[in-house]
Amino acid sequence: MIIVTRPGVTEDEIDQIRERVEAMGLRTHISRGVARVIIGCIGDEERLRHLPLLRFPGVEAVHPVLKPYKLASREFAAASTTVPLGPVQVGGAEFVVVAGPCSVETEETTLATARFVASRGARGFRGGAFKPRTSPYSFRGLGQEGLAILAQARRESGLPVVTEVMDPRQVELVAEYADALQIGSRNMQNFPLLSEVGRTRRPVLLKRGMWATVTDLLLAAEYVMAQGNLQVILCERGIRTFETATRNTFDLAAIPVLKRETHLPVLADPSHGGGRRDLVPPLSFAAAAAGADGLLVEVHPRPEEAWSDGEQSLDFGEFGALMDGLAPFVAAAGRRLAQGPPQAAPPADGGSRVSAE
Ligand code: PEP
Ligand code: MN
Repeated sequence: MIIVTRPGVTEDEIDQIRERVEAMGLRTHISRGVARVIIGCIGDEERLRHLPLLRFPGVEAVHPVLKPYKLASREFAAASTTVPLGPVQVGGAEFVVVAGPCSVETEETTLATARFVASRGARGFRGGAFKPRTSPYSFRGLGQEGLAILAQARRESGLPVVTEVMDPRQVELVAEYADALQIGSRNMQNFPLLSEVGRTRRPVLLKRGMWATVTDLLLAAEYVMAQGNLQVILCERGIRTFETATRNTFDLAAIPVLKRETHLPVLADPSHGGGRRDLVPPLSFAAAAAGADGLLVEVHPRPEEAWSDGEQSLDFGEFGALMDGLAPFVAAAGRRLAQGPPQAAPPADGGSRVSAE
């Protein structure tokens, strides 16, 4: 249920409403818009039935949230949410490109890629240290050694790092190194994993299951948020259909649908979406025009030598051309695209990044 306040509501009035709702055993979440504040009530709404909420000073309206997802639904927030990725805000005026190799391989290729993508306007660095692979005999990532290389890449490039976590037992370890925890397509409905990342305060990049509907994706986000971690970034990465010309069918329509249904930021992954490097620019341009908040793109210095997903990875020249070509689409969508290196580097990794809050 959400409580919408009148314009000009006072802080005392908000506190009183919260106290009364929380005294009934529910949690509250405050979202501030330009004129109004929305107080989201989380828990057993039956308990509020006898509370004359409309009579409380400052209350304008009380609405049930009819969607199966509550915290993730657009009604729950007064404005679109921005989620921090290190020093960068995802979901705001800036269109955020997160780029890097599919897998962390050698220190040489990883650092070279981080430096290059930073110089061309990427605002986040991606790379998997724990890789979900269809065959158990394929390269499955460097594990903790890969995480250490990512930490070095962050120091040298100034870019915050997104990396995948596949196992609830490794969430704490990966969260020490990552600025955002990626939940991959294959794990989108791994409920223990979703709950575990929900217990951290590290932002989560949640990729759509290749078999999942938009509602399934939003309910997966709800699992994370229900644990108290509201910092979720969604990612459309293509779904399985009868089409075989592309690795996945990139679901462009999911972007505006998600932007309508949720206040959370939405990225697009044109690399897995098409599975071929020639498709990355057109899918990226379309995603920007459709209202995506940014991209997750695979880049490798020598894609033909990549240990995973070389066929869909851009080389440096192709990534530079992508950033140049993207600019007018981003501008047309009313967003800004960074073109040069980040101004201020994020703090070097120091100690545990898991907060107890
Ligand atoms: C990836 O981003 O490298 C990845 C494995 O993606 P997905 O989970 O979408 O297949
Ligand atoms: Mn990949």
